[in-house]
Amino acid sequence: MDELVQRDWDRCVEFHGHVCPGLAIGFQAAQIALKVLPALEGETYNPKSGIVSIVQNDACCVDAVQTLLSSTFGKGNLMFKDHGKFVFSFIRRQDGRGVRVALKYDAMDNERHQALRSKVMDNTATPAEVEEFYKVHEELSMHLVEALPEEHFDWREITFELPKGPKLNPTVQCAYCGEGVMEQRASVRDGCIACPECVETYESRVLVLNK
Ligand SMILES: [Zn+2]
Ligand SMILES: [Zn+2]
Repeated sequence: MDELVQRDWDRCVEFHGHVCPGLAIGFQAAQIALKVLPALEGETYNPKSGIVSIVQNDACCVDAVQTLLSSTFGKGNLMFKDHGKFVFSFIRRQDGRGVRVALKYDAMDNERHQALRSKVMDNTATPAEVEEFYKVHEELSMHLVEALPEEHFDWREITFELPKGPKLNPTVQCAYCGEGVMEQRASVRDGCIACPECVETYESRVLVLNK
């Protein structure tokens, strides 16, 4: 592996805590973004303006996206769509141009890995099978990291309308717990402002504020 690629992979593993095929998928997807985004037509690429990442799953792979592209919830440039798909969209904040990266359907096909994994999950694997599982697990991960991106991924250019500037989120007080909540997340129960947490447990809640 190229020295720089190795360094990037090591950073991802350190952040995520272990080597796994999911992390390798996110690693490759982010590498595609780093290659494609600067080369898109339009304005000259400005790396400082940042990348917005839209991830369609919340599994291991997202940790590589956070590490390599600096997309995080805290900065507001990581969006999660709960679609259960290994699909990622990476958008240049400067002009809304980007790339949609999708894992090919058969990329994770490895019969031995799948058979061993079900045994490990069901606690029916022998110690030798557990050992073999982790060996195959790591081999599959490294195969995904080292393969050419086009072997396991499809991608195409997209444009995306990014929301303008940070949203203003006024805080209101929940009448049931007395805590603050963003106005857009609050609702009304029995004529009083309620936060989502109190709405979930509404039946057992008592008002702490007077109407
Ligand atoms: Zn993992
Ligand atoms: Zn509340």
